[in-house]
Amino acid sequence: MSGTLYIVATPIGNLEDITFRAVRILKEVAVIACEDTRQTVKLLNRFEFKKELISHFQPQEARKIPLILDILKKGKDVALVSDSGTPGISDPGFRLVREALREGLKVVPIPGPTAAAAALCASGLPTHRYLFAGFPPPKKEALRKTLSALKDETATLIFYLPARKTREFLSALQETLGERDIVIARELTKIHEEFIRGKTSELLNSIENINLKGEMTVLVGCKDK
Ligand code: SAM
Repeated sequence: MSGTLYIVATPIGNLEDITFRAVRILKEVAVIACEDTRQTVKLLNRFEFKKELISHFQPQEARKIPLILDILKKGKDVALVSDSGTPGISDPGFRLVREALREGLKVVPIPGPTAAAAALCASGLPTHRYLFAGFPPPKKEALRKTLSALKDETATLIFYLPARKTREFLSALQETLGERDIVIARELTKIHEEFIRGKTSELLNSIENINLKGEMTVLVGCKDK
């Protein structure tokens, strides 16, 4: 019988944010496929166990997928983790899952943290409809095009953003979507966790003198009706 591929969510900062089930599965599987072995070792050390690790990061994905499928076909269970949060959510995972399913293998999610959901639930913006947009394109023109296409979207928009891009991103938002309610969720679950809330123009003014650092999720409210 083939093994199971578990897609295991891990903390986005605070190492206490992991489920009992996730820890049990990580301890029970034969192998953990991870992005950066150094990151995953920190997690295993916190829970005091060792496990064989295979790195499965983006540039090596194509090469590593057959190897992982082979382990599964030999009847061994594999857990896929990323450096933080839920694998496949702006992280490697989707291709491995697709290939495993094509091969008729069993794929089981072990749910847990993801920055998008953590940011949204405490943002104060409507949560009944949201659109996860991932990382916006880095180039100016592509960014404007992407944002313009979301002009009439009625969902709360969620973006992952490198902190150094904040100003450029807010300017592009102002130009394409006009004034909106914005929430910047920074360093979630970590010591310096912070929510910065305001209209686009207010944030553009206030961040002028702040050097934003760390990991950031940006939420954009829909157009006032
Ligand atoms: N797989 C992860 C998840 O489930 O959220 C996302 C990985 S993606 C490579 C990393 C991006 O997620 C960061 O650049 C940031 O936009 C967002 N992110 C991750 N951790 C965060 C945190 N603690 N606080 C705010 N945003 C975070």
